Amino acid sequence: MCGILGYCAPQWDPGLTKFFGLQGFNLQHRGQENFGCTYSNGKKFNHFKDKGLVSQVFTKERRDHFNQIKPLIAIAQTRYATAGGTDAISAQPHWMTLLDGFYSNATNGDLPLLQEEIDNLRAAGTVMLSRNDGEVILKKILHAAHGKNGGDLVAGLEHLMKTTPGAYSGCLMTLTELYLYRDPYGFRPLYFGRWRDAVVFASETCAFNERDAELEREVHPGEVIVVDLQGRITHHQLVKPNRHRQQCIFEPIYFARPDSKVFENDKEVGHFRYQLGRRLAQEQLVGDAVVVPVPDSGRFSAVGYATESGLPLRELFIRNPYIPRTFQIAGQSQREDLVRLKFTTMLSLLGYRRNFVIVDDSLVRSTTMRILIAMVREAAQKFDIAPRDLEIHVRLASPPIKACCYYGIDTPETKELAAATHSIREIAEFIGADSLGYLSLEGLDAVASEFDKPTNYCHACFTGKYPTKYQTRKR
Ligand code: SF4
Repeated sequence: MCGILGYCAPQWDPGLTKFFGLQGFNLQHRGQENFGCTYSNGKKFNHFKDKGLVSQVFTKERRDHFNQIKPLIAIAQTRYATAGGTDAISAQPHWMTLLDGFYSNATNGDLPLLQEEIDNLRAAGTVMLSRNDGEVILKKILHAAHGKNGGDLVAGLEHLMKTTPGAYSGCLMTLTELYLYRDPYGFRPLYFGRWRDAVVFASETCAFNERDAELEREVHPGEVIVVDLQGRITHHQLVKPNRHRQQCIFEPIYFARPDSKVFENDKEVGHFRYQLGRRLAQEQLVGDAVVVPVPDSGRFSAVGYATESGLPLRELFIRNPYIPRTFQIAGQSQREDLVRLKFTTMLSLLGYRRNFVIVDDSLVRSTTMRILIAMVREAAQKFDIAPRDLEIHVRLASPPIKACCYYGIDTPETKELAAATHSIREIAEFIGADSLGYLSLEGLDAVASEFDKPTNYCHACFTGKYPTKYQTRKR
């Protein structure tokens, strides 16, 4: 999963560097392993990419050079490595200098037939530097654009959309033009708008939360938007969007920032989560308990659960925000250690409450929930609370995750997903909960229908019914 961002401006504005950096910070939650950037002032270009956060990679030296070159076009990506490693070659943007010019590309999403795409490119004589989707996409576009189309990038993008199933919201730039594009299924969000004279874009609307920025709309599935240095914008609906979009329902459940709107809804993601919590309380009520959110992923749903049930809401866990997301860490014991580092329990609550309903957005491997419950039980011993007097219920604001994702969310292989291999009772026992309840698929769709038609969302990780062809791959 990644975030992409950038701008194309008819003239240099010194405020652009700050705005661009802020966009990166606002999309940091979408990827923390790499940050990379390509920029051009219409005559000269430069690029950098490295491991680390925006603040670590967009250093003072790089910002100084950025300011010096006065770029009129810039594209960037915050990255989680779902395809290829975290080395700089696999990171994005990718770039190429051909006889007729310079090209750079960054995408958000995954190609479910990645290996087949790489094999086809190689068979056609293309040299691949990485196993990353963004490089495949850049080379497919350029191959098609230069094959019979005289360098026409819109034709290259049309070929990409007609021949490449998968999730890709992307940005492509030359020295003088910016191209925004989105796959015909619309798996991943992508928005554009204005910041002063510049056309700006980003994966989520939270990157437009700045005084001078105005959001225009999302890039439609199957659409390409071309922006040039004169400020001209042309729209090309290259491929009819699929009858049903396949917007990733995990964006509003978990991934997007709560203050973002995704998929052209007029309500924020935090509201979606709140409604999931309310519906969860209707379906999976615990009679008498204190509602406890898993921070920060379960917070909005816990508030919804408490509001609907009338149960009190308290914080029991404190999360250290500087520890990375644990579901992406390789190795079970390392993941468990990190959960213990990441969370602490508020012991004082245990002094007067013994029954809890812990609310989270979802359960992947179950590592986090199992450790959290173990931590509460360990803490209870300090108050001499007998195990039989402590009640811990778990409620999850999404259905059981039974299949892995091939479209850009880095869930583990199916065999590592708790709900793919175990019954609800077995999972409850394993995590040490007195009861476990999931939101139903019908409940999820009932909430989603407040935002869009439920058929416009991908549900593959709950149903195992994938909307495109896919190949299983090693992560
Ligand atoms: Fe999103 Fe799940 Fe579909 Fe992946 S499989 S795109 S996580 S809904």
